[in-house]
Amino acid sequence: MGESIKLWRCQTCNRLLRERPVSYAMERHAEMVKAEAGAAADFVREATWAAYLASLRRCRCGSRKRFREVKAGALRGQLDLGIEAVVLQ
Ligand SMILES: [Zn+2]
Repeated sequence: MGESIKLWRCQTCNRLLRERPVSYAMERHAEMVKAEAGAAADFVREATWAAYLASLRRCRCGSRKRFREVKAGALRGQLDLGIEAVVLQ
């Protein structure tokens, strides 16, 4: 609680995206690599981090249009952790 939630909408596919900090991307990436690469995790993490972060800076549909900010108040009650992440910093 207390954490402010910033939401954006992709103007191409209308997908809702939740803004997350780079630290969130780092944690998710490290978990993903650990699960997939095991002993080679350190190497794979360094090799794939830039591409992973870049993938979180745009919508999954591949759109390069700017995101439109969504007022979180209008969506109260619909927020859940299933909203896809976007890193805009
Ligand atoms: Zn999209």
